[in-house]
Amino acid sequence: MYSKTVIAEQAKHHDCFYLYDESKILQSIETMKQTFPQVTFLYSLKCNPNPHVIRSVFSQGFGADAASLGEVLLSKEAGLTKDQIYYSAPGKTTAELREGMKYAHLIADSLPEIERIDKLSAEQGVVTEIGVRINPDVAFYGGKALPSKSGVDEDQFFAFLKENNCKHIRITGIHAHLKSQVLDAAALASYQKNILALAERVQEACGRELAYVNLGSGVGIPFASNESPMDMSVLQASAKEYFDAFLAAHPNTKLFIETGRYTVGKSGVYVTKVVDKKVSCGVKYAILKNTFNGFVRPSIGVMVGKYNDDPIAIEPMFTCKDAFQILTLKEADTPVEKVTLVGNLCTAADVIAEDIELPELDFDDVIIITNAGAYAAVVSPMQFSLHTKPAELFLRTDGTIIE
Ligand SMILES: *Cc1c(COP(=O)(O)O)cnc(C)c1O
Repeated sequence: MYSKTVIAEQAKHHDCFYLYDESKILQSIETMKQTFPQVTFLYSLKCNPNPHVIRSVFSQGFGADAASLGEVLLSKEAGLTKDQIYYSAPGKTTAELREGMKYAHLIADSLPEIERIDKLSAEQGVVTEIGVRINPDVAFYGGKALPSKSGVDEDQFFAFLKENNCKHIRITGIHAHLKSQVLDAAALASYQKNILALAERVQEACGRELAYVNLGSGVGIPFASNESPMDMSVLQASAKEYFDAFLAAHPNTKLFIETGRYTVGKSGVYVTKVVDKKVSCGVKYAILKNTFNGFVRPSIGVMVGKYNDDPIAIEPMFTCKDAFQILTLKEADTPVEKVTLVGNLCTAADVIAEDIELPELDFDDVIIITNAGAYAAVVSPMQFSLHTKPAELFLRTDGTIIE
């Protein structure tokens, strides 16, 4: 699943680093395209905005799901046009809206935000086409809607449409996203069907077709060894039936699907090294370069395992007992030992594994942690204690590495 020679070579130059493998990114993209041939994909930059990663993803025809003005600007710098960038996030400031609308389609996240965009547009003497994020009446797994800080409740949105006095905005799209990291294909397919039905109702209420319906994300990746990958054939069959029917009825409407984690999550590994070893009260410790402050999720996993049985609740810090495989470059016949892996911070929080069996480790040995392509570097507190940050390396399909 990764090249040991490449890792060993890079470990000579870096004490700790992320390695993103472009060929794996392209494979995931290919699977997504085969599953949903009807849609345009938007890459959710927040999971990994590494400039080489985003350029590779954008080169495959993906647009941007930007969750901040910074992500809008990064997407623009990477070459995307306004029609390819969708800026959807709660709590945008007026300055961010003003700047964002130059380079992206705004997706309003609340009724007051719609009014602010209307006012900004009036000041500029323009009519701005916007999308609106909706919190649908039906929750992800069915049942009544749940309270959410994201989007406008469906009933409030329809009430707004009835009395809409905003003359300087035109609603041309809707966006819904209720859940990430889903592995239950039937549940995701059913959610997508609900959003298409919602789009029909919105089109009816507006008396015209929408330019786009953004179905949000959802496709997850297996972390723990007892999880199975998403059954993409179920999604494909459902899309063939329902997406095709929707598009046949509304040929001018585009369908968007957002994806971050599925596209890049499995493409990355985090590599670090043993910097010290000791035994304390019978427990063997290997101390590693930057763990909590390099790739935080495994440490969160250890904490969560102690205090909480419902780890999904803290996504994207999600983790669970064996969510991240820990591998070495040792020869297969190396004797094994039980070891506790900790980081080099002056806090007890950076434990990434307790008492696991690994080949006997020496000073400078390499440790590889999987599933480090999404919500990894970006969510790790790298300023903590001012250690040198891990490098981020990108392995191109031609075998060259760029930093
Ligand atoms: C985070 C997020 C995504 C991306 O989710 P992934 O699980 O990384 O695919 C998509 N849409 C919205 C609105 C999000 O907040």
